[in-house]
Amino acid sequence: MTAEHKVERKLFDEVMVPCYAPMNMIPDRGKGARIWDQDDREYIDFAGGIAVSCLGHCHPVMVDALKTQAEKLWHLSNVMTNAPALRLAKKLTEVSFADRVFFANSGAEANEAALKLARRWAVDVHGPEKSEIIAFTQGFHGRTFFTVTVGGQAAYSDGFGPKPGDVSHLPYNDLDALAAAMSDKTCAIMMEPLQGEGGIVTPDPAFVQGVRELCDKHNALLIFDEVQTGNGRTGTFYAYEQTGVTPDILSTAKSLGGGIPIGAMLTTEKLAAHMKVGTHGSTYGGNPLACAVAEAVVNEVSKPEVLAGVKEREGWFREGLEALNAKYNMFSEIRGKGLLIGAALNEEWKGRARDVLLAAGEEGLLLLVAGTNVVRMTPSLVITKEEAEEGLARLDRALAKLTAA
Ligand SMILES: *Cc1c(COP(=O)(O)O)cnc(C)c1O
Repeated sequence: MTAEHKVERKLFDEVMVPCYAPMNMIPDRGKGARIWDQDDREYIDFAGGIAVSCLGHCHPVMVDALKTQAEKLWHLSNVMTNAPALRLAKKLTEVSFADRVFFANSGAEANEAALKLARRWAVDVHGPEKSEIIAFTQGFHGRTFFTVTVGGQAAYSDGFGPKPGDVSHLPYNDLDALAAAMSDKTCAIMMEPLQGEGGIVTPDPAFVQGVRELCDKHNALLIFDEVQTGNGRTGTFYAYEQTGVTPDILSTAKSLGGGIPIGAMLTTEKLAAHMKVGTHGSTYGGNPLACAVAEAVVNEVSKPEVLAGVKEREGWFREGLEALNAKYNMFSEIRGKGLLIGAALNEEWKGRARDVLLAAGEEGLLLLVAGTNVVRMTPSLVITKEEAEEGLARLDRALAKLTAA
């Protein structure tokens, strides 16, 4: 890259609000599951922008959709109808239970819309006492004040003064606790069908089914946050398809845009009717440029061969990680579903997920963590065998150094 476009890492500390602590390496460009930094050093990307870059970097179907739409029309207000948004909404209703779609710009905003719809439905149909939102500890739903309050990590929600009210948290996977807590005052349950940020935790199928039954019993809505699990990540277009349970409201973002900012709330016709003109809105939500790219992404990812390919790739990763574990004995469990993979560290390595991430970075491999004990991988859903093998070989070298140190 040309010298005048280069930046130094220290500029981050000079001009950015310090709520992140990014790595020192500065990415410049990407292709497939590879990224090159400003000095042309190559990295294999098992992070995928935290479950965003589902088709890898600069996939031709995304680049084509972006270029075509960029020369037609970028933005319209919601005062107008726009074709890319309608095409994408139609597609999303075809690949899910939903009849209606609301577009936002992020996962948090999609969840905000989901929670507001649930509360509005309860006020309209049952009266103002039905306001309790129940969610789960270690859950993550975004960073707006309502969504971070519903999320189950006090470290993220505390210290900002009074929170939105009537939100409570229970342990994930504990159906008895939920049965004891729920009542006719419960408005909605919000949950991830597989906890991502909380450590890649898959619930028991009986728990998920039980939550649905309790919601039906108490006339409460079930909201699935599929911001991380959605759009092919677990091997079906949405993860709920594998649970035998259908939610009333579903939020989706991250991989929906494959790298362009977009989120959506999906719901039924009956519930959507409570969002009358003026009840909610977003300036950029449903932006034609974002919707055109997302439409291309959804068309590609929803192909049966791409979804089947996720299961196949899960096998490559599980085998590779088990083989590394046989060699280095660092993980207590390889968990997750599809290409949402967690390698949980054993007692000896407890708390050192970030050390693994940094050691991998030294070897030219980009990883993620989920908390301090889980190394997380959310690679491209179309990562090639060569890219996956090369990444695992680099992880092998990183773990060799780490265990020798
Ligand atoms: C990332 C994430 C969010 C927040 O999405 P943003 O686009 O960062 O607002 C919400 N829920 C889950 C499950 C997530 O993984």
